[in-house]
Amino acid sequence: MFVDVEAVLDPPRQEVRARFRISEYPPERWWLHDNLEIVGCRVDGQPAEARRFLGGPGAPFSPRVHQIEVTPAGAVLELDVAGVIGGVEAEVNCLGPELTELALYVGWHPVFVSYPSFEFTLDLQLLGGGPVAVNAVRLEDPSPGRSRWRSASGGIDIAVVASPGFVETRHDRLPVRALANADHGPAAIDLVRVVGSAMEACAAWWRPVRGADVVMLALSPREGWPYSRLPLILLPGGTGTTSEALHIVLHETAHLWWRVARPLSADDWLNEGLAEYAANRLARDLLPGEFTRVRTAATLAELAAHPDDEPVIESGQESPARHRNRYLRPALAIEAIERQVGAAALDRVLAAWLDSASDTPLSTPAALAILDQQLGPTIATCLSDALTTPGWQPPSTAE
Ligand SMILES: [Zn+2]
Repeated sequence: MFVDVEAVLDPPRQEVRARFRISEYPPERWWLHDNLEIVGCRVDGQPAEARRFLGGPGAPFSPRVHQIEVTPAGAVLELDVAGVIGGVEAEVNCLGPELTELALYVGWHPVFVSYPSFEFTLDLQLLGGGPVAVNAVRLEDPSPGRSRWRSASGGIDIAVVASPGFVETRHDRLPVRALANADHGPAAIDLVRVVGSAMEACAAWWRPVRGADVVMLALSPREGWPYSRLPLILLPGGTGTTSEALHIVLHETAHLWWRVARPLSADDWLNEGLAEYAANRLARDLLPGEFTRVRTAATLAELAAHPDDEPVIESGQESPARHRNRYLRPALAIEAIERQVGAAALDRVLAAWLDSASDTPLSTPAALAILDQQLGPTIATCLSDALTTPGWQPPSTAE
């Protein structure tokens, strides 16, 4: 799916206008924020009907997001929307004089788990100006006040953040930048330094990151959730450099390497578990030792309290055990292998996993085969057992 967007954001009036030109769009119903009016709809150049289901149930992630259905289906859908939006919604969506932070897509919400990922171009006009960051590569600005962007990789939305008070902090050697208001300046310096160190460590353990990824951090002047749409990582300004927040940033930075398997599949533990393993390993070097001790103890206690979780590779996207199974258990299993064979031997396996994923997404059988080939059947069986046994107890509890 490809989405070509022209958007005009008017923060002082909290208004937005956007034209989405969407090719290869899925035939299912779409989500659209109730505040947005559809002012034009065409399919393959012909006027089309966009039905709204405002009386129906709201989206699971926001009661003010409802479904729409466009008929007939076709190759290219052009949708013009306009509306007013403002304030904090779902703890992140804002458009106002002090802050623009939006998922700029037809649904106006950063969660589209049921959607295929898409590539995009964005022509953005931000009235009033100010520094802006998007989860994309910046192209040459078409004119003053407008910026043009191209997605860095397939994503599920277009995240935009801007604030008139933002100042940019840059790493002195690496492609890491942070946007923050002046009162969050020291936090921005910390963030840039920690992410730079994390990128250097991961590159030394496995290999340099592919492509010209610039990690863009933003300390948004609001409370609420952190989230990331790589290469953009967004944090609430006030909590920017707590150890918990930095652990999230380390996990997200590690995804520059660990996005090797299909995200919504049972192999997703390879993305999340390895990013979590990397974050834990980076935290040992970069964050206070006390943080790692407390976090590890909490993780072990949480796993011990859930002995009946289904096996990791049977855990679905909606499973209540998803976080334990995709993040915590695989990370501990990989850490146990690191203790057994040493970091250098493990890193050769992980580098081979990364190499194998550059052609086709990495699968659990392929990862186990590489592990078996490099470290032998005993180690491969350890990991395989950890992934297929229900309520598996991490080896570290037995020590
Ligand atoms: Zn993750």
